[in-house]
Amino acid sequence: LDYHCGIATLIFMKYLLSGIQLGKIFLWQKILQQRKSLPIATVEKRLLEEVRKNDTLIIVGETGSGKTTQLPQFLYNGGFCRDGGLIGITQPRRVAAVTVAKRVAEECGSQVGQRVGYAIRFEDVTSNMTKIKYMTDGLLLREALLDPYLSRYAVIIIDEAHERTVHTDVLLGLLKRVQKTRSQYANKQSNVDLMKANFNTLIKREENGPGVGNLQQCQRRNSNPLKLIIMSASLDARGFSEFFDNAKAVHVQGRQFPVDIYYTFQPQTDCVDAALLTIFQIHLEEGPGDILVFLTGQEEIESVERLVRNRIRQLPEGSQNLSTFPIFSSLPSEKQLKVFAPAPPGFRKVILATNIAETSVTIPGIKYVIDPGLVKVRSYSSESGIDSLITVETSKSQAHQRSGRAGREGPGKCFRLYQESLFDKLPDSTVPEIKRLDLSNVILQLKALGIDDIFGFDFMEKPDEKAVIRSLETLFLLGALTDEAKLSNPVGQQMARLPLDPMDSRAILLASQFNCLKEMLIAVAMLSVESIFYAPPDKLEQSRAAMRCFSSPEGDHLTLINVYCTADEFFEKSLASNSKEKAEKNLRNWCKENFINSRSLKHARDIHSQILDNVTRMGLRVTSCGDDMLQFRRCLAASFFLNAALKQPDGIYRVYRSGQMAQIHPSSVLFRSKPECIIFKELVQTTQSYVRNVTRIDPLWLSELAPQYFGVQE
Ligand code: ADP
Ligand code: MG
Repeated sequence: LDYHCGIATLIFMKYLLSGIQLGKIFLWQKILQQRKSLPIATVEKRLLEEVRKNDTLIIVGETGSGKTTQLPQFLYNGGFCRDGGLIGITQPRRVAAVTVAKRVAEECGSQVGQRVGYAIRFEDVTSNMTKIKYMTDGLLLREALLDPYLSRYAVIIIDEAHERTVHTDVLLGLLKRVQKTRSQYANKQSNVDLMKANFNTLIKREENGPGVGNLQQCQRRNSNPLKLIIMSASLDARGFSEFFDNAKAVHVQGRQFPVDIYYTFQPQTDCVDAALLTIFQIHLEEGPGDILVFLTGQEEIESVERLVRNRIRQLPEGSQNLSTFPIFSSLPSEKQLKVFAPAPPGFRKVILATNIAETSVTIPGIKYVIDPGLVKVRSYSSESGIDSLITVETSKSQAHQRSGRAGREGPGKCFRLYQESLFDKLPDSTVPEIKRLDLSNVILQLKALGIDDIFGFDFMEKPDEKAVIRSLETLFLLGALTDEAKLSNPVGQQMARLPLDPMDSRAILLASQFNCLKEMLIAVAMLSVESIFYAPPDKLEQSRAAMRCFSSPEGDHLTLINVYCTADEFFEKSLASNSKEKAEKNLRNWCKENFINSRSLKHARDIHSQILDNVTRMGLRVTSCGDDMLQFRRCLAASFFLNAALKQPDGIYRVYRSGQMAQIHPSSVLFRSKPECIIFKELVQTTQSYVRNVTRIDPLWLSELAPQYFGVQE
C-alpha cells in the first residue's frame, strides 16, 4: 500500500508541479506581452545607445510609458553592471520604490531582494546579488555619507525628477560633483590630485566615524565614470539640461487617448461628499472601467472607504459590484500591491489614492478619474521656523497629470470637483520643496559630507537665504553646529549618522545622558508611524475607553510608550509558551481588542529595532529611567524646546519661537486638560492650527535645559 501510495503521490506531485510550471509560464508570457506593448519598448536600442554616448542623459516621457520599470532592465541586459557596479534608481516616495521593485523582480522572474531589490529608511531588501536597486532619494543621500563617491553604482537614475523633492534637488547638485570627480579619475587627468583628495576625504571620514574601507578599495572602485540619468514626466526638460551643462534630453513618446474633463457648476465645500456622489454617479450611469479618486491622506482615504462600503450595501442587488482599494504610503506593502490586480470578474474597482498615483505608480484599467484638486504638503515658514502639514490646491500640471491617468488604455473621463474658473487661477507648477521645506536635515547632511559653504553649493534652484539661515540657527541651537557653523564633534556628527529629524536625533543623544534612552527610542519609533489608535465610528465609546487605559496625564509621548510596553510585555509572555507566529497572531488579536492599529504597531516595532541597532553601533548605552518619567519629560524639553508653547488666557497656545497660535489636536490626551506649558512634535494646519503629539513640561525647565535659547541675555 505504501508503495502504491508513494507512486500515486509522485504522479500527483508531478502533475501539480507541471501545473505550477504551466501557470508560471502563462504569467510570464503575459508579463512579457505587457512589457513589449509599453511605448518605451520600441526605443530600447536607441536609449541604450544614448546612455553609452552620454554620461548624463535626461529622459522625458509620459507617465506609464515604462520608464521606471523598463529602463533599469534595459541597462542591466545592455551590460551596464558587467564591471560589478549597481544600477540605482531613486524615487521620491517609499511606496513607489517598494511596489516597483516587486514588480520588476517579478518581471525578471526572481524574488525581490535578489537581482532586483529596494531600500527605504528602516528597510533594506537587497543582497550581494542585487544589481538593480530601487530606493528613496533620501536614502541615496544617506548612502553618500558612507560612500562619498557612490562608488558602488555604475548608473544612477534620478526618477520623478519633476517632483523636485528637496532630496532630489540636493542629489542633483551632489551627483554633478561626484560624476565630475569620478570621470576625472577615470580619464586619469589629475590622478595624483584625485588620489590626494580621496585620501584626505578618507582620513576625515575615518576620524568622523563611519569608515569607507581603505584607499586602494576607493581607488579601484572609483575608476569608472558614473552614468547619470534624470527621468521626468513633465515635458519641460530644459531646466535639467541646463543644470547639467546642456546635457542631451530624449523624449519617449507616450500613448494618450482623449480625456473629457468635467467641472462642477458650484464650488464644493465638502470634497469627501462630492467625491462620494461622483463615485456612485459613475458607477450607476457610466460604462465599465475603474475609478481613481485622488484624496489627501490616510485618514481621508479610510473615511471615504468606509462611506463607500456603507453605501454599496444600500444599493439594489445587481449593482453592488463595486470594490474599494486604498493606496497610501503607510499601507503595508502586500496591500499596496493589491491595487494592481484586476478587479474580480464583473466588478468595478474604485482606487482611493494619495498623489502617489499622480505619476509615481501607474495602475492599469482606469477610465474615470475624480480629482478634488487638493493635495497635502509639508510646508515650512522661515519666519516662524515651524514645519507644518497643510492641504493646498494642486497646480495646473498636477491636474493635467491626474486627468491623464484616465486616458492610458482608451478614451476616459476626468471629474474635477471644482469650477472651471478656479482651474485658470491655479499655479502652473508646484513650487520645488527646497523653496518651502525646513532644510535643517539636509543642511546637516551636507555639512557631514564636508560641504560647509551651503550658499555656494550648486543647487539647481537656490533655497531662500532666510530659510538657510533659519535652519543653520536651528542646528546651532540643537548643538549640531559650532558657532562657526561647522559640524560639532561629537554631537553634530552623531546626529548626522542617525536617520532621523534633527530634533529626534538630539532627543536620542540627550536621552543617553538623561538615562531614558530606552523610553526615547520607543517614543521616536511610535511617533514615526501614523495613527496607533483607531476609532471605528460604530464603536467610538469602546475605543475611547480602551485608549483611556493607556493614557497618561503627562501627554501623548508617555501614552504611546505605555501602549508599546504593554504590547511588548504581552508579546514576550505569549512567546514564552508559543511559537513566534502564534505569538504574533496573539498580538494582533490583542491589538484588535484594544483598538490599536496592529500594522502601525508592527511598523513601530520594526523601526524601533532599526534605531536601536543604530544607537548600539554608535556605542550609546541604552538605560531606562524606570518609573521616573520626569527624567524623560525633562529630556523632551531639552531637545524639543524649539517646539515649546505656552497656554494663553483664552486656552490657545502660543509657540515660543514663532509667536504662532495653535490649539491642541483633539486626538491628544491633553486636549481637555490643557496644561500650562507643552512641547509638541508637529504642527498641522487645516482650517485651524493644531499641535499634535504633545507632552506637558514645566516652563522653568526651559531656561535651565536650553539656556542657549531661553537663557537671560546679559
Ligand atoms: P513610467 O515610469 O513611465 O510612468 P512605469 O514603468 O511605472 O511607467 O509603468 C509601466 C507599466 O507597468 C504600467 O502599465 C503599469 O501599469 C505597470 N506596472 C507597474 N507596476 C506594476 C505592478 N506592481 N503590477 C502590475 N503592473 C505594474
Ligand atoms: Mg515612473
